[in-house]
Amino acid sequence: MRVGIIGAGMSGLFLAHHLAEAGIDYTIFEKRAGVGGTWYDNTYPGLHVDVITRSYEFPFARKNYWSKRYAPGSEISRYLSDFAREEGILAKVRFNTEVLLSAWEDGSWTLTLSDGTTETFDAVVAATGFLHVPKRPTFPGTDTFAGHSWHSSEWDHTVDLAGKRVGVVGTGSSGIQIVSELGKRGHDVKHFIRTPQWIQIRENKKISVVERLLLRIPALAGYWDRRIMKLRIATEGSETWRLVPGPERDVQTQRFYDELAEAVPDPDLRAKLTPKDPPGCKRIPKSPDYYQVVQRPNVQPVFGGVQRVEANGIVDPDGTLHELDVIVYATGFDTHAYMRPMDVVGPDGLTVDKLWAEGVYSYRGIGLPGMPNFFLLNGPFAPVNSVAIPTCLRDEVGFLMRLLATSQRESRALAPTEEATDAFCGTVRAALPGTTYSLCDNWYTDQAGTAIIWPFTRQEHADQYADASLADFERFEARGDRTLSGEVAR
Ligand code: NAP
Repeated sequence: MRVGIIGAGMSGLFLAHHLAEAGIDYTIFEKRAGVGGTWYDNTYPGLHVDVITRSYEFPFARKNYWSKRYAPGSEISRYLSDFAREEGILAKVRFNTEVLLSAWEDGSWTLTLSDGTTETFDAVVAATGFLHVPKRPTFPGTDTFAGHSWHSSEWDHTVDLAGKRVGVVGTGSSGIQIVSELGKRGHDVKHFIRTPQWIQIRENKKISVVERLLLRIPALAGYWDRRIMKLRIATEGSETWRLVPGPERDVQTQRFYDELAEAVPDPDLRAKLTPKDPPGCKRIPKSPDYYQVVQRPNVQPVFGGVQRVEANGIVDPDGTLHELDVIVYATGFDTHAYMRPMDVVGPDGLTVDKLWAEGVYSYRGIGLPGMPNFFLLNGPFAPVNSVAIPTCLRDEVGFLMRLLATSQRESRALAPTEEATDAFCGTVRAALPGTTYSLCDNWYTDQAGTAIIWPFTRQEHADQYADASLADFERFEARGDRTLSGEVAR
């Protein structure tokens, strides 16, 4: 069996490790010049991971070299490069190579690559994530801006910001981190806020050398992880407060109000910074000092969004022109693109665009009906907000390896049935209305207004794969199949 992996970000690298362990040959196609995915793209000032970094490590590649509890992006990026090099994965990556088309032909997948060549695989895994297609706003006049401008994931480090007036549009995790950092550095910053966000005020403690050394001792590391988990639950609540309405959610909501009230004494500014949506609906940015920073004289929050862009800056909804030399669009990503713009054409001309014409969906975040041996990692309904990525990957990849082993053993290609996919999506959709994710518009929401993320607990995420039946999959004739011919075998 040969597996084609699209993307050398966290998911692609995680999968590569498991394929190598199982003795399965693979090639990774990566459109960028290096590994790391979103951690390769994003280099903006102030970039930090916003989950405790130990829970962001691969469980099979502990490093313990993090300088802070929430490590800077450069350390995550280095961690992923080190991992890929040490595991011998780098030699299996074709860099600067975008996959333009994945087509099912004669029982296997042929990938057409941006260099004009093709390669054929028994299975393809789109490990593309959902944060790789920048969402660029189309304000009137955007093209007329005379200064420098870029998307947050494409930071232009050749532009020296010293003495420049910088506008940052967007209040997601990216915008909040950028404004916090530029504000602290003393830059002249205007933060354009269409929708204020709830911010989790979290100190980012340094991790001492002694602590790092102690973490190398497994028993101590286990003790430390349990302590941190307790602390996290004490400060952020258990995972269920976002999932079910009730007293715990009320306590958390009050906590956010109290933290904002304490940090921002001016009632007028506080009212403007107070979100209308409940906490947890949009993904909550963490910052130790954003509220302090927007009260500094060099930082000005501008409320209501952007009316238009002019050569000299941004005009706000009141018609005031804010003169700027640089505009940073921290306006998020086309999160429902997943593996696209790549075209995927399966048996009988079925395409991913057709499957997703009315909104994205999947079987357990990893499979698509009618697409044999075409898998995703962290696809629609994956728990992108409630479970750290490596934990989520451990569950998904564990199941995926089971599917690949079955495919090898049976010499068939596997795709989830429509019935099993409908049943899965139905269960998840039915649970979503009670969750905080469903209470406002956010980047999870699909065309029909449903959030496409996991509405249950971590444990339930693991359990669903243990409970999943291979009878949920129909079998298709595969290239390696010597026993079948003719029609699709089911
Ligand atoms: P995002 O959460 O989607 O936020 C986009 C922001 O841009 C929102 O405030 C949105 O306002 C605003 N916006 C979009 N279009 C606009 C327009 N036309 N006019 C005015 N404002 C507009 O994007 P993100 O901050 O890049 O974060 C995306 C995800 O990446 C995060 O949720 C997280 O999962 C991940 N991330 C993680 C980290 C980390 O771990 N440290 C850091 C950065 C990002 P509205 O709310 O009004 O739509």
